Amino acid sequence: MRRSRAFIPTSKEAPSDAQLASHIFLSRGGFISQTAAGLYNYMPLAKRVIKKIENVINQEMSKAGAEETELSFVTPASLWQESGRIEKFGKELLRFHDRKENLFVLGPTHEEMMVDMVRNRVTSYKQLPLNLYQIKTKFRDEARPRFGLMRGREFIMKDGYSFHATVEDLDREFDAMEAAYKKILTRLGLEYRIVEADSGAIGGTGSKELMVLADSGEDTIAVCSSCEYGANIEAAARGLRKDIPEAPEAAFNKFQTLGVKSIDDLSQFFKVDPYYTIKTVAKRVVYEDTTEIVLFFLRGCDNLQEVKAVNATDALDIVDVTEEELLEAGIVPGFIGPLDQSKAKHVIDNDLKDAKHMICGANELDYHFVGVDLSVLSEVAYFADISEVNAGDACPHCEGELSFTKGIEVGHIFKLGTKYSEALKAEFLDENGKAQPFIMGTYGMGVSRLVAAVIEQHHDENGCIWTKETAPYMVNVMISNIKDEAQNELGESLYESLQNAGVEVILDDRKDRFGFKMKDAELIGFPYTIIIGKELENGQVQIYVRASGEKITVDKDIVFDKVMELI
Ligand code: ATP
Ligand code: MG
Repeated sequence: MRRSRAFIPTSKEAPSDAQLASHIFLSRGGFISQTAAGLYNYMPLAKRVIKKIENVINQEMSKAGAEETELSFVTPASLWQESGRIEKFGKELLRFHDRKENLFVLGPTHEEMMVDMVRNRVTSYKQLPLNLYQIKTKFRDEARPRFGLMRGREFIMKDGYSFHATVEDLDREFDAMEAAYKKILTRLGLEYRIVEADSGAIGGTGSKELMVLADSGEDTIAVCSSCEYGANIEAAARGLRKDIPEAPEAAFNKFQTLGVKSIDDLSQFFKVDPYYTIKTVAKRVVYEDTTEIVLFFLRGCDNLQEVKAVNATDALDIVDVTEEELLEAGIVPGFIGPLDQSKAKHVIDNDLKDAKHMICGANELDYHFVGVDLSVLSEVAYFADISEVNAGDACPHCEGELSFTKGIEVGHIFKLGTKYSEALKAEFLDENGKAQPFIMGTYGMGVSRLVAAVIEQHHDENGCIWTKETAPYMVNVMISNIKDEAQNELGESLYESLQNAGVEVILDDRKDRFGFKMKDAELIGFPYTIIIGKELENGQVQIYVRASGEKITVDKDIVFDKVMELI
């Protein structure tokens, strides 16, 4: 491509709401243009990057035996009613009627559609396994679209679905997809971590997220200092506590505790470690057509993890509740406890199972119980893992310690089991001729989010630094002064020979000043720029390496070979 003819509208100005490097540099570098909240045009450079990422995905999927398909973007709402997901997805699902008043949605993900395509076409175990995917625009009416391509409303996703006759076969495919995803991210030049993820209402253990490590990531992940364990904070578990504080020995008793409401106050009042106090987090839990107050009990040193709390209550959402609402329900804020708790549904953290020497609210103004033994509740109350892990907690798998880091979720792989095949009655005949629902896996990857993730991990103050497999053009041939005959001649001939060698090359043949063109090249982030300038009088040119900032001076006769060697 000749730069003089290309549509690459670079600019000094970033959008006023841009905070992330990727949003700033992809806008300024002429890659994307915003049309409305969460909606972007991909201009020629972004389109090239996307195609390159898609190529890598297609190659690795093909090696893993997955087949590409393309399903319609507009999907009948009836399928979403069949699966029961139309409510769960809520307002993110964009619904509309066609001229005949049929209800449709814009596909935010395609489990239902893929199952519908396969059901009644695959009817025997002999036709399994099957792994089908597509790379396609998705639409989710996100509440807060932000950060450019990172969280759009319209975005590109690679979504794959596998169908199996047995759980063992799903496990094998899941591992194969994990391996393929690793290869993709490695080829794209990304540093990443695979972590255990929240499996939501579906449950089970087979859910992993691929996190590109970046300080700007929206996800917090807990990682072990000495083993491979990593988990999204929404799903992170911890090992047994090692340094358990000394227990306050006291017989069961009720104490007056005037105005002692917070965990801090309580632990000071009784001079005990917060570990031996019970914290109550009261929330309003939202279900499909009702809401109710739920009390979550944890050790005073722990905090509620809201996603775990949503899962524990099978809720759609969890929102705050006011003191007035609690009082109205007969609950005494500041003095709530799990003993004789009849006013509201409650969930007790697993770590409190059989806990002894505890101090908790007595459900009476200005009173607390001491010497509480929670084993009295172990048969009657509902226990679940609802606490957030803390930095320094023990790893659940080894002797190591957990610490936190930030990640960008670029992929999510999931063992679905028979959730969708049962709901949509998608069955096959097994070896004994018995009808069985397909056992399924699902494998998502955020293609447009990956474009942003590459830049979050690879940029400097001057702009983008594309990796080899993601660069829109690998080599930028820059003629410093296009009025110079010799510079022009060499530029044109290098441009031609690199093109002939199959290199993705762009020729900067614009009339602009050298300094301006150099800034532009840095902003866009071509891996290599061949600078044809004044030194040509001595038979020399320079190769500028964007990632290292290095300028290599070479003889003009060997520059082609040198570039071929570098790339
Ligand atoms: P998130 O937690 O970031 O909202 P999700 O869990 O809703 O993502 P999935 O349903 O697992 O996402 O979708 C698969 C992949 O699609 C994600 O791993 C992510 O890379 C990408 N993705 C999801 N939502 C968006 C979005 N709004 N914009 C860009 N990419 C997205
Ligand atoms: Mg996810």
